[in-house]
Amino acid sequence: MKKIILILTTIIMCTHVSAQENRIPSKGYALFSKDGSFQPYEFTRHSIGEHDILIRTLYCGICHSDIHQVHSDWKEETYPIVPGHEIVGEVVKVGSAVSKFKVGDIAGVGCMVNSCRHCEYCEDNQEQYCTDGRVLTYANKDVYHDGEMTQGGYSTNMVVDEAFAICVPKNAPLEKVGPLMCAGITTWSPIKQYGIKAGDKVGVAGFGGLGHMAVQYLVSLGAEVTVFDITEEKREDALRLGAKRYINVTREEDLQGINNTLKFILSTIPANYNPMMYINILKVGGTLAVVGMPAAKETPNISVTALRGRYLTTSIIGGIKETQEVVDYSLAHDIYPETVVIPADASAIDKAYQDVIDGKVKFRYVIDLRTIK
Ligand code: NDP
Ligand code: ZN
Repeated sequence: MKKIILILTTIIMCTHVSAQENRIPSKGYALFSKDGSFQPYEFTRHSIGEHDILIRTLYCGICHSDIHQVHSDWKEETYPIVPGHEIVGEVVKVGSAVSKFKVGDIAGVGCMVNSCRHCEYCEDNQEQYCTDGRVLTYANKDVYHDGEMTQGGYSTNMVVDEAFAICVPKNAPLEKVGPLMCAGITTWSPIKQYGIKAGDKVGVAGFGGLGHMAVQYLVSLGAEVTVFDITEEKREDALRLGAKRYINVTREEDLQGINNTLKFILSTIPANYNPMMYINILKVGGTLAVVGMPAAKETPNISVTALRGRYLTTSIIGGIKETQEVVDYSLAHDIYPETVVIPADASAIDKAYQDVIDGKVKFRYVIDLRTIK
């Protein structure tokens, strides 16, 4: 008996040691505290399991969620954090049981890298609502790998289960594909869920990274789109992307006659605002779908009785199947984010963050990880 226990212990230890030995070295940029700036960071990722692929990161978008999260806007985070969940890269190694990818293929990774696969939401292709072990791409405990903290795409590589990787054709404009994994799916999912169709009068509040994707999807479906933002500088861009009307909410005159006109409004606003303004713009039976996630101390409030027959809902990214769907749809309809590519450099990322906070980017910064030194 003792002998069997000894053999088993040795096998377990050997497996553990070899998993340790096979860890994947990675380097990227991390924040070490919520008020710090980006620093180079070398770390390792878990070894390549039989269902995993190793991706050499090519590009990664900068989402406003990255900024919220590294600043502990929603809750106190554990550092260091390498952010990044709008990832596209080349598959450089595959596990023995991988069937969806081969070396040389292009893969995307969004906000999730794993989930339980058996709860009611996973079974319904809504892994983002998994109740029993969803793992986010960064700053999250990976319950399937000894509880280590995940690190994101501002780095040279990713190791991910193929079930959570998205297939991207090689001829896609790769510097524009990363943001489809978050800004794309997050706006697409509620637009599909609420069945928006040709002729519907709809609105997009917050015309940034997410908002400009929402406008393009809604226009492609034939909806009549009104864009709401707080600046004059994006008026022409909204009309150029096919919006019917642009409302600068800081101008009283823009808001005249708008109440009780729209069927659906998607709010991507990342800061505090008055949601009642948008509820009042909806017709009875209309829906305000909120995807913007302001800091905890700035969360907008609304009185339930003030809804008066309008619906208020929220939506979190989308499932993996739906993410593949939106990538395919975007490529088929030539719908991409408007991107500004920056080098993989700590000070360039710091500056990009400040620009997003100051509303100075049109519309998505993307880091070129091929330039990392
Ligand atoms: P951006 O900063 O790119 O865009 C936000 C836009 O909202 C900007 O155009 C900004 O204007 C505008 N804005 C700011 N305040 C107001 C206001 N009071 N009224 C109208 N417009 C306003 O951010 P992202 O698009 O990357 O992200 C938006 C939000 O969505 C974030 O909170 C992010 O965390 C969240 N998010 C949520 C996800 C989910 O699953 N639910 C997934 C991904 C992101 P200006 O540029 O002039 O400042
Ligand atoms: Zn995001």
